[in-house]
Amino acid sequence: MPDGKNHNLINITVLAMIISGLYSLSTRADIVFPMEFLNFQTISVFSISYLFGTFFLSPDLDIDSSPYGRWGIFRFLWWPYKVMFKHRGLSHHFIFGPLTILANFTLILIPVLVLAGFNVYRVPVEFIATVVLGIWISIELHILADLVVSEIY
Ligand SMILES: [Zn+2]
Repeated sequence: MPDGKNHNLINITVLAMIISGLYSLSTRADIVFPMEFLNFQTISVFSISYLFGTFFLSPDLDIDSSPYGRWGIFRFLWWPYKVMFKHRGLSHHFIFGPLTILANFTLILIPVLVLAGFNVYRVPVEFIATVVLGIWISIELHILADLVVSEIY
């Protein structure tokens, strides 16, 4: 299976392809493109979430991996996840992988936001959906890359 650096390279390459694909579609007059949704802000939020997913919310949080190490002193927040999931088990399932990672991340994020005085109910649904989509796709790509490479070797 690809190592952490190859996963990063694959994910960044695909992000560049997504952004350039969206840009080239947006310049074509024959295609009606929902520009009111796919604006610069949405694409930026998607890209940042996708990159955060790539570097911090990888399915390899189930082992002592680079994404696990990037959490630094806060890596204890992922320790239960690492202990509960055997490597390349449910964490690398196409549905349960992203679901469990996002669930654990939500359990970490919500108390932090609430303690910081942030009103989580005022966050627009479109923003949350874009963040989840960015993280979700980055995780799916990791799982797909692991699957493809393990089929070849
Ligand atoms: Zn993996």
